[in-house]
Order: sequence, then structure tokens, then C-alpha cells
Amino acid sequence: MRICPHCQYEMRESFDIKIDSTGNGLKVTKEGTFGEVIGKPKVAVCPKCGEVSIYLDESDLSAIAPHKIEY
Ligand SMILES: [Zn+2]
Repeated sequence: MRICPHCQYEMRESFDIKIDSTGNGLKVTKEGTFGEVIGKPKVAVCPKCGEVSIYLDESDLSAIAPHKIEY
């Protein structure tokens, strides 16, 4: 569960991001023109104040975490 950093209300998660006209969304990659794909970002929105947060699912983070992080 993500908490709004602005008003501390519970955010609604797992919305998609789309680029207008291509419909392929966005992706996060490692450096370089053809960098390895780390994941496709998701969006959380605070239904109270409208704060928008862009994040990667936990399953995508192993590609960039130096070691396993306990939550
Ligand atoms: Zn909020």
C-alpha cells in the first residue's frame, strides 16, 4: 500500500501510463540506446489530493538492487 507523500492518504495503485499516439506506454531501462529493460512503470494516484506517483513493481527491482532488500 502506497501512502500519499503530500497528504498521507492511501493511494490507488497499478494504473498504467500511456504515451499518446503510440500506445506502447513507457519503460525504464539501463543506460544506453538499447539498454536492458528493467520494467514498465505503474502509476498510483491519491484520490484525495490528486498526487501522482510513478513506480516499478517490486518484482522488477531485483534487476537493479545490489542485494535483496527486506521490506
Ligand atoms: Zn494526497
